[in-house]
Amino acid sequence: MQDFRYTGFAQEILSGAGMLAQLGQAIDRFGWQRVMLCSTQSQRRNGHIPSVEQALGERLVAVYEHVQPHVQDFQVEEALMLARERRVDAILGLGGGSPIGMAKTVSFALEKRGEKQASSPITQPLVPVIAIPTTYAGSELTPVYGVTEHVDEQARKVTVSDVRIVPKLIIYDPLLTLDLPPELTASTGINALAHCIEALYSITRNPPSTAVALSGVRAITSALPRCYETGDDLEARTEMLNGALLAGMALAHVSMALHHGLCHVLGGSAGVPHGIANGIILPHAMRFNLDATAALLAPAAEAMGIATTGRSTEEAVEEAIQAIYSLIGGMHLPQRLRDVGVQESDLPHLAQLALANRSVQNNPRPISNAAQLEAILRAAW
Ligand code: NAD
Repeated sequence: MQDFRYTGFAQEILSGAGMLAQLGQAIDRFGWQRVMLCSTQSQRRNGHIPSVEQALGERLVAVYEHVQPHVQDFQVEEALMLARERRVDAILGLGGGSPIGMAKTVSFALEKRGEKQASSPITQPLVPVIAIPTTYAGSELTPVYGVTEHVDEQARKVTVSDVRIVPKLIIYDPLLTLDLPPELTASTGINALAHCIEALYSITRNPPSTAVALSGVRAITSALPRCYETGDDLEARTEMLNGALLAGMALAHVSMALHHGLCHVLGGSAGVPHGIANGIILPHAMRFNLDATAALLAPAAEAMGIATTGRSTEEAVEEAIQAIYSLIGGMHLPQRLRDVGVQESDLPHLAQLALANRSVQNNPRPISNAAQLEAILRAAW
C-alpha cells in the first residue's frame, strides 16, 4: 500500500427524485438570502429554471441564463457585474459542468477583486457555491474550475484549483435528467466513466478514491446504456446519477492524467465539447497506459463483468477497453477526431499544448515528448 494524502470537503448532498423542492429549506439552513442563478437557455426551455425560481422565491435576486460551454472569460465579466450589482451571498449553478463552472468562477472572481477579503484562505469562505447538476460531468464535487481565456485570437483553457470553491450544497434530482438528450446522456456519462478510470490509475490514488471509483464503474456501465435507450427510465437515471456522484468523488480527490489533459486541450483549443472529446480519447488513453496500469484497472474490468481469472491482467483490461469502445460506439458518439472538426494539420500544435498540461504531466506512464502525444492524437484522428 502506498502512502497517500486525502483532503476531505464539507459538503451537504441531497439526492432523490423530487429533491429540488427542498432547495429553499436547505438554503435557509445555511442562512443564505441573496442567491444568483447561473444556467443555460436550454434549462429555461425545459422548465428547470422556472422550477428553481419557484423553489427559491424571493431568495433569488439574479439570473444569468446564457452560459456558453467551457466558461468563456467575457461571460465571466458579465456575470460578475450582475453578482456585484445584486450583492449576492450565494451562487447556484444549474445544468452541466459549464454553468456550475461559471458559478465557481464568479465566486472566485468576487474574492479576487476584493468583494470578500480572505484573511486566511482556508478559514474564510468565498461566496458559497450551490450546484444542481443535470449532466454526469461531476464538477459539483470538485474544488476546480476551468475558464477559456481569449488572448490574441487564441483560446486557451486555464484551470484553477482552490478548496474554497468546492460547492457547499449539492442537489441530485434524477427528475432533472429525464430529458437529457441521448447524445448528452452518452457523452457526459462517458466523461463520468473516464473520471473513474483515471482515478483508478492516478498517481495520487488513495483507498477512498479507489473504492468510489470502482463502485462508479459498476454503476455507470450498468445504467448508462439503459439511460441512453430509455431516457425516462427513472430507476436507470437514479443509478446513473449515483454513478456520476461516485465518479465526481473520485475525481475530486486525485489528480487526473493523460486522458483528461488531452480532453481539456481539445475543448479549450479545438472547440470539441468535453463529453465528445471524452468518448473519442478514453480508449486511446487507456491503451497507451495499458502496460503501466493493467493491475490497477483489472478490478474495473471485473466490475464490468469481464472475467479476470486464468488470464493476464493485460488481456482482461484490453477486453475492458474493447467493451468501453463498443459502449461508446453503441451510443453513436463520434469516435474519430476528424469527425468533430479537428484538422490533421492541427495535431502537432495540440500535442505541443498537451505536453504542457498538468494532467498529462501526471500520467502514470511518463510522457516526455510531444511526439508521444501526437501519436495518440493521430490514432484518435
Ligand atoms: P455543459 O455544461 O457545457 O453542457 C452541455 C450542453 O448540455 C449544454 O448545451 C446544456 O445546455 C445542455 N444540457 C445540460 N443539461 C441538460 C438537460 N437536462 N437537458 C437538456 N440539455 C441539457 O457540458 P458538461 O459536459 O456537463 O460539462 C462540461 C464542462 O464542465 C467542460 O467545460 C468541462 O471542462 C467542465 N468540467 C469541469 C469539472 C471540474 O471538476 N471542474 C468536471 C467535469 C467537467
